[in-house]
Parts: sequence; C-alpha cells; structure tokens
Amino acid sequence: MTILVLVGGVVLLTVAVAALAWPLLRQREEPAVAEATAAQIAVADPLAELSERRDAIYRAIKELEFDYQVGKVSEADYQAFSAQLKAEAAAVLREMDALEAAAADPALDAAIEAQVAALRRQTQTASSPASPQAAPLPSSAQARFCTRCGHQAQPGDRFCGRCGAPLRFP
Ligand SMILES: [Zn+2]
Repeated sequence: MTILVLVGGVVLLTVAVAALAWPLLRQREEPAVAEATAAQIAVADPLAELSERRDAIYRAIKELEFDYQVGKVSEADYQAFSAQLKAEAAAVLREMDALEAAAADPALDAAIEAQVAALRRQTQTASSPASPQAAPLPSSAQARFCTRCGHQAQPGDRFCGRCGAPLRFP
C-alpha cells in the first residue's frame, strides 16, 4: 500500500515536472538543432555528430509522446511535431547510411587500389632507363583485364597478379 502511494506520488511529480519543462525544452531545442546543422560542417567526425543528432531527435520524440499521453499536447500538435521529428530522424539516418556506405564500399576500395597500381606502373615505366620507342606495347596486349576481379594484366601474364585467376584472352 505504502509503495503504491509512493509510486503514484513519483508519477504525479514526473508528470508535473515534464508539463512545466516541455515548453522550456521545446524553446531551447529548436535553435539547438539548427546550430547542430551549421556546426556539422566544421565537425571532424560527421558520423558521431549525426548519431548525437539522431539520439536528440529520439529523445524529443519520446518526450512528445509522453506529453501527448498525459494530455499536455493536443492531438493536432502531436501529429504535426511527431511527423516533423520523424522526418528529421529519417534525414539523419539517410546521411549516416551515405557516410557509412562511402567509408566501407569494397567496390570503391578496389577501384582506388587499381588506380594506385596503374599510377605506380606508369611511374616505374617513366623512370626506367629504356626509351619509350624501345618497348612499344603490342596492340593486342593493351587493356587486358582479369575477368574475375578486373585487375589489369601485364603483357605476358598467364595469371592475374591480384587474384590468381588464369587469364584467357582471344
Ligand atoms: Zn583477378
């Protein structure tokens, strides 16, 4: 019985505090979100910044739902704010997905490696003492690529230098 009274009291107190705090929080949070968007440009770790923004939006949604449940926010206001917050959360999640995809795209990594390897070969060819006319590439040997991984093959190679697949060319 005592516990029930105690719990009831705590719940009433929480509702009262939330009801008083909601307009204050709302006034403080709206400029804060705008500031976060501007500050994001200068932030070194945009993914951490985005995850903070996402968490802030989730907290705001929870507060809004609570206020709606206790009757502090009208149905129309709840629907409007809720839709706005969920759209913001979706935008942040899309930005996070784009960042994560760019950071961990294996196709992109492979493309960069291939570019670096091609540049390295160009540098080696340029710095070699042989004159360009001494070793012209036969036209049939130009632009040969591994059919499995796309790695560019060297003239005379019978196996891919990267993945080891046998090279078959017409
Ligand atoms: Zn290969």
